[in-house]
Amino acid sequence: MGYPDEYLCDMQALLGKGFGAFRAALQEGGHAALRLNPLRSGAEALLHGICTDVVPWEPRGRYVREGFRPGADPLYLAGGYYMQEASAMAPARVLDPRPGERVLDLCAAPGGKSGQLAAALEGKGFLVANEPDSRRARALAGNLERLGVANAAVLNQLPERLARAFPDAFDAVLVDAPCSGEGMFRRDPETRAQWSKANVLGCARRQKAILLEAARMVRPGGRLVYSTCTFNALENEENVEALLRARPDFAPAPFSLPGVGDARDGCLRLWPHEIRGEGHFVALLRRSGGAPAPVFPRLSPDGEARHAWGQLLSMVPGDWPRPFGGWTPRFAGDTLWLLPPGMPEFKGLLCLGAGLRLAARSGRILRPHHALAMAADPARVRDRMELDPVQCALYLRGGTLPTPCRGWTLVTRHGLALGWGKGAEGILKNHLPKGLRIGSGNAL
Ligand code: SAM
Repeated sequence: MGYPDEYLCDMQALLGKGFGAFRAALQEGGHAALRLNPLRSGAEALLHGICTDVVPWEPRGRYVREGFRPGADPLYLAGGYYMQEASAMAPARVLDPRPGERVLDLCAAPGGKSGQLAAALEGKGFLVANEPDSRRARALAGNLERLGVANAAVLNQLPERLARAFPDAFDAVLVDAPCSGEGMFRRDPETRAQWSKANVLGCARRQKAILLEAARMVRPGGRLVYSTCTFNALENEENVEALLRARPDFAPAPFSLPGVGDARDGCLRLWPHEIRGEGHFVALLRRSGGAPAPVFPRLSPDGEARHAWGQLLSMVPGDWPRPFGGWTPRFAGDTLWLLPPGMPEFKGLLCLGAGLRLAARSGRILRPHHALAMAADPARVRDRMELDPVQCALYLRGGTLPTPCRGWTLVTRHGLALGWGKGAEGILKNHLPKGLRIGSGNAL
């Protein structure tokens, strides 16, 4: 499938002399990349022969050799890395969240940037990852769970509903807006087929509305990053200008992106003929003032949750809870959660989960949740079973294994957690969730 003529004319007008190089770049293949997950140390050494070089603007980004697909790679399933297009790593770098901040990712699925934002928080502060499409929100929750993110909430709301609940609430907000996808045309012929001027106008209108709602949630002195993977000015600069007209308390903030350049006016484009990545647009805006984000009421643990927490600690011995000092155990229905300090309640909002999902209760029985396996540091869990490649393949397919272990056991490969097993009478029963087993039709 070729490129729409109208689109090529627009690009020629936008690029002038640079159009020839751009057109030539469209004939080349893209550059696959992944981002190492710092919440899983040691993954890089295991990717020997796969990673080529570092993505200049993301220290954890790596280009990968041609044709690499994670498939059923245990390292991928253990959250060691996330496949992410190199240019798509730019917006979260520009937002640059720091540990302890409250961060909102408003258009978050499938979660590449949310994972990157959570990694930057290093487990301190929290991330609200929102996605209004419910199917995509579930995929987002699954990806964050696989990456071992504990200090995030996954919401499934439209921006206006969130903005009513959380005015002035976040230090940093990312709007990675749904767009016409011109920057992805090279990799994704389907987006080319869907392109039309009318679609561009429709996207621009929707983005403008999203951006206005996002601005309502930035605290005075806070940051807002607006990004798209498209080139036209209607969806990019013109939306930023519209926001600045509506909200004079926001101003563009200059920034530099290594390997790309300086954004003196707060806006930067990533062009496929200038960098090794697809097309992207990133704008950084700062709200004037300096008030801290409001403090949400401290959540108190209920007696039941405290009791269940104690029970869980005896079922899964080790000092794994140490990084979660100051977090609050709470029940939501029959699920036991651990909430990071400062996280608000999401009453009345569609919330797929907030904090770390610790365990599920069924009558008097408590079962550690898969999310706990993915978020706990394996070195701090006492009962572990390291698998060889054959055992690993069997475990990932849902098989049982011979074991000397008794009780709840963290199953690892290369020291990274894959899930739980429960040992009894020489057999390790498989507790990998059915939907995550190889052959279950799970999307990898
Ligand atoms: N940031 C994501 C990542 O890195 O994986 C990609 C986001 S994608 C470009 C845009 C997302 O916005 C889609 O998942 C789409 O469902 C969602 N979306 C659609 N309409 C929206 C709206 N009105 N408000 C917020 N998000 C919306």
